Amino acid sequence: MHPSSTTREPTPALVIIGHGMAAQKLLEQLVSLSPDQQLPWPVTVIGEEPHLPYNRIQLSPLLAGETRTEGLISQQADWFSRHGITRISGDPASQIDRAARCVETASGGRIPYQRLVIATGSRPALPLPLPAHLPKASSVNDWPPGLMGFRDLKDVEQMQAACLAGRQAGAGALVIGGGLLGLEAAEGLRKGGLEVTLLQRSERLMNRQLDEVAAGLLERELRERGLDIITGAHLEEWLESPAGRISGVRLTDGRELHAGLTIAATGIRPEIEFARAAGLACQRAIQVDGHLLTSDPHIHALGECCEVDGETFGLIEPIWAQIEVLARQLLAQPTPPYRNAPLATRLKVSGIDLYSCGELAPQPNDEVLVYQDHALGDYRRLLLREERLVGVVLYGDVSAGNALFEALKAGTPLTRIREDLLLMPAEALARLTQDGPPTAPDDPSGKPGTQDMTDQHRDRDTTDKTDKTDNTPDTFEEAA
Ligand SMILES: Cc1cc2nc3c(=O)[nH]c(=O)nc-3n(C[C@H](O)[C@H](O)[C@H](O)COP(=O)(O)OP(=O)(O)OC[C@H]3O[C@@H](n4cnc5c(N)ncnc54)[C@H](O)[C@@H]3O)c2cc1C
Repeated sequence: MHPSSTTREPTPALVIIGHGMAAQKLLEQLVSLSPDQQLPWPVTVIGEEPHLPYNRIQLSPLLAGETRTEGLISQQADWFSRHGITRISGDPASQIDRAARCVETASGGRIPYQRLVIATGSRPALPLPLPAHLPKASSVNDWPPGLMGFRDLKDVEQMQAACLAGRQAGAGALVIGGGLLGLEAAEGLRKGGLEVTLLQRSERLMNRQLDEVAAGLLERELRERGLDIITGAHLEEWLESPAGRISGVRLTDGRELHAGLTIAATGIRPEIEFARAAGLACQRAIQVDGHLLTSDPHIHALGECCEVDGETFGLIEPIWAQIEVLARQLLAQPTPPYRNAPLATRLKVSGIDLYSCGELAPQPNDEVLVYQDHALGDYRRLLLREERLVGVVLYGDVSAGNALFEALKAGTPLTRIREDLLLMPAEALARLTQDGPPTAPDDPSGKPGTQDMTDQHRDRDTTDKTDKTDNTPDTFEEAA
């Protein structure tokens, strides 16, 4: 792989390590906030991947054959030269020399900085140590053949090749992890023509986002499409072919599952090795404050490689909010600090609509409002605490998702619309906005539990049928 670069500048004021989604969005935001869209200082971005920046989120539709690689590219090469940005690609940063304020790259380049932003994202995590006789994998590139993560364009190309080979050889695929990423990988591979078995450690799919009923509906739909799903699957050890390929797994119950290709979608590990080696304060990720500043006043960190108030990230929404703050901070424009906030989750498997946000497990005195239309396959579960929404699960009709999420984030008292909240959430919430200031939670006109329960498909249930986990979806992947 040969490093490539455009319009090199001698001393960039700003250097960004990593050219993924966060870095590219930061560049675009800096351009858009700069007078005449011209950056006030030279910028260099150092990318390990050889490609132009692309939309990682669209890798799932790409694998499923629903879009093409060209459609993922966020900016063409000339965009960088037009804005005075030097783009180095295919040449990862290998070291930060903080004393000299300089980044070294694998090819031996030394790039000085005045301000540095680390945006190196995450790597797929191994769900199980590799067999002892294999060398310890220091990166995903060291995983043995037959085993891979689902993280970048190269992975999709490899999976597409495996689909081709698997169709010819009749070999199947194993996907470990029944979170969002695992489900999207499994569906993509199935659409690519492979027999796919999905292993999920929990007793239900997407156990951090979905309750039993919604997870059951999802599982039924995926099974009907042809996916083999094993829940409650605990891994014992990797199976290995005589040629040293990972050829499947053995479960703790003794079952052996063989596959031509195994995908690990069981969590992510922030990419912080060289930040740690440079002496920056790190816990699970690089620790930053609300202005995305690390323990070094010249270095910021952003996205999945950073940690704010002990929280790490795996979804794009909080990263966009971080960028709003960091771009202004770098341009010396006033900005309030970034704060962690609730997140919503959607699955990108075509034909399956689900939406989840907030908490999943009810606390004592919480109310769980449930609506289910068996014929249409619609399911809605709202978790209320003191007349305010604290958790939402929607399956099928998800049209009210955003309105419910806004009400959840705002902590809006819902007393006045309790009658219609379950059946017509979007309409009821819109009425609440039109009607003016919300009613106080203790307003005597709003009595909890006054819903019409005559519809046989509606069902109000305040019993806790869920695992004692909350569904705060702080990562797109999920520990299986
Ligand atoms: C298949 C898939 C689907 C997803 N779908 C969704 C979704 O629907 N919704 C959602 O909210 N989120 C989704 N995500 C998560 C989302 O893509 C990430 O949260 C987001 O990309 C994180 O941005 P980032 O810039 O922090 O990391 P990345 O986008 O991973 O970028 C980090 C970049 O840094 C590079 N890098 C690492 N080390 C170095 C180094 N030493 N030198 C130079 N470069 C380096 C990496 O190669 C990478 O290009 C999905 C993720 C995947 C993999």
